[in-house]
Amino acid sequence: MTDFSAGAAWVKGRVVPIGEASIGVLDWGLTHSDATYDVVPVWRGGFFRLDDYLDRFMASMAAVRLDVGLDRGQIRAALIEMVAASGLRDAYVAMVALRGSPLIPGTRDPRYCANHFIGWCVPYVNIIPPARIAEGVRVYIPDDIHRIPEDCVNPRAKNYHWGDFTQGLFAAKDRDCDTTLLTDHAGNVTEGPGFNVFAIFGNRVVTPDRGVLEGLTRRTVLEICADKGYQIEVRALPLHELLEADEVFLSTSSGGVVPVAQVNDTRYGNAAPGPKGMAIRESYFDWMLRPDLRLEVVYAN
Ligand code: PLP
Repeated sequence: MTDFSAGAAWVKGRVVPIGEASIGVLDWGLTHSDATYDVVPVWRGGFFRLDDYLDRFMASMAAVRLDVGLDRGQIRAALIEMVAASGLRDAYVAMVALRGSPLIPGTRDPRYCANHFIGWCVPYVNIIPPARIAEGVRVYIPDDIHRIPEDCVNPRAKNYHWGDFTQGLFAAKDRDCDTTLLTDHAGNVTEGPGFNVFAIFGNRVVTPDRGVLEGLTRRTVLEICADKGYQIEVRALPLHELLEADEVFLSTSSGGVVPVAQVNDTRYGNAAPGPKGMAIRESYFDWMLRPDLRLEVVYAN
């Protein structure tokens, strides 16, 4: 039997072990970061909000003019087939659309590239190890690295333009922090490598409206917060305001809701995860099991 324990990939209609999947060295997905992608979680044997993730992926492909020759139903079926074959019950499931290799050697005309689709899945990823939450997650916001402006790269079409994040991560690791969060050139907080950010002030919860991917976890969190009776503000969030919050947390499909204990020199509470953030985290994992938001996978074994 094929070993999919490290993950599986869907390539041209075949499901293969993740280690066997590859792309060509001339693919603009590699040479120009010319790709868009999405990541949907599988949790306890079922996809969470699969149709919402597919909607976002289809919108991203349209935004960057990628046509992979598969419709929404075919992409959906490919992901389900791949996860069922993989046997993974908790998974990070990626769908990727790439510009592909030029059909005319050396051309710079993006119309003449063979766009294509690849799916892949690996065991569930936590971008911050859950054990770090109790220890106190620390975030570093550099003042000399900013998020790419949204009129340069559209952050709503999920992309691999991570040069800013990677430099931010090195700066964070140099300071013994868990991760980085970037501001825009106007001093507003945007997002980090793989997550959105929220600030809590009493009964108000604030998350940035600009320079960000409209995270699906962010959407779930906004719904959870509405349910809990929070007043919700989706607007510019200046850095100085984030530093004055009662609590701060991150939202991501790769780990859910992650309360933060410290940003730069500012400690929230006693530098421990905040009680409101922890309650929202708990609700998020409850919502991941809501039958109306799930698609159960039928596994072969
Ligand atoms: N922002 C960026 C840049 C991301 O890459 C991600 C997810 O990978 C997010 C935000 C969070 O989005 P979601 O909650 O849909 O995972």
